Amino acid sequence: MPGGFAEFVALRRDLHRHPELAFAEHRTAGVVAAQLRHWGYHVTEGVGGTGVVGRLQRGDSTRCIGLRADMDALPITEASGAAWSSVHAGCMHACGHDGHTAMLLAAARHLALHGRIDGTLHLIFQPAEEGGGGALKMMEDGLFERFPCDAVFAMHNMPGVPQGHLVFRSGPMMASSDYATITLQGTGGHGAMPHRANDPIVAAASVVLALQTVVSRNVDPLQPAVITVGAIEGGKANNVIPDAVRLELSVRALDPAVRTLLEQRIRELVAAQAQSFGVQAHIDWRPGYAVLVNDAQQTRRALAVAQRHFPADQVQAEGPMLTGSEDFAFMLQRVPGSYLLIGNGAGDQHGACMVHNPGYDFNDANIPTGARYWVALAEDLLSPQP
Ligand SMILES: [Zn+2]
Ligand SMILES: [Zn+2]
Repeated sequence: MPGGFAEFVALRRDLHRHPELAFAEHRTAGVVAAQLRHWGYHVTEGVGGTGVVGRLQRGDSTRCIGLRADMDALPITEASGAAWSSVHAGCMHACGHDGHTAMLLAAARHLALHGRIDGTLHLIFQPAEEGGGGALKMMEDGLFERFPCDAVFAMHNMPGVPQGHLVFRSGPMMASSDYATITLQGTGGHGAMPHRANDPIVAAASVVLALQTVVSRNVDPLQPAVITVGAIEGGKANNVIPDAVRLELSVRALDPAVRTLLEQRIRELVAAQAQSFGVQAHIDWRPGYAVLVNDAQQTRRALAVAQRHFPADQVQAEGPMLTGSEDFAFMLQRVPGSYLLIGNGAGDQHGACMVHNPGYDFNDANIPTGARYWVALAEDLLSPQP
């Protein structure tokens, strides 16, 4: 693949300077659509809100694949010190979606100008990966009916992994992520007369401890699972027993059956604990992203492409499972495919700072690496047939 990456580094830094939150990626989507059109793609905007799909069709094969990048930023104030830091206080590209967009655009240009493909390529630029479910929104807007794909792929940068290393994994890779708000309703009263109240604070303390036994006592020790009580709120004064306490939970699993078990045990424990303390419990359960499961056959093909085009020590065939979550999981529920990681830098390397941190920055050295991989994958899956 020839040079010319400087313009994509500049484009990445321009996107970085102008981050946009979920479903507000208007400027970003505009940049993406204009570039794709310029290279001859058939472009559809406004898919699932601010999503963009670029279609490139060559030859007469009916094969079609989808490559996905995400475009949204996070509500974080940047402290990376980079010259291209966000100009919007309280908003930054702290997950590298600016880089994902730039990598796919760099590949898009090469494929349009020089790509040896026979079939249809759909480049999917989605909004709102960070909790907004932009992938689902695009699917509800007919993504795969309007732009059919035999297989879909996505790539996310990963700090802590050496720059440019490609990490694959067959089967479950990213966790489901559910949210629950538990309200314990008791009876408030004077702090000096607890016998005339039903104290929800003591009940909440017991619930928090009881929840720790779900992962340690109910889940198979060989299965990953997380229950985090990230917020607890109740009471205002030392001599007043409040009438309610609120708990906020994050619940994660890497297996759908474990995900179901976690919900069931949380509901049972909270109900039993509440009853034993004489308070009422209400649980508002909000399902989030699904477990991300990579298709075995598509992952084998994606890995084989990496092994053919990159040095052996740059390709990891069996990466770890992660407890983070990713809404590409929904696309993989509909269409077989694979999600891979690209190392953003490890140790002293630039890019080692973890995502969602104010000091994070995407490693621009990955623009050529990621683009080369996307081109190789597209040319392999849509290779002209003899
Ligand atoms: Zn993120
Ligand atoms: Zn991300």
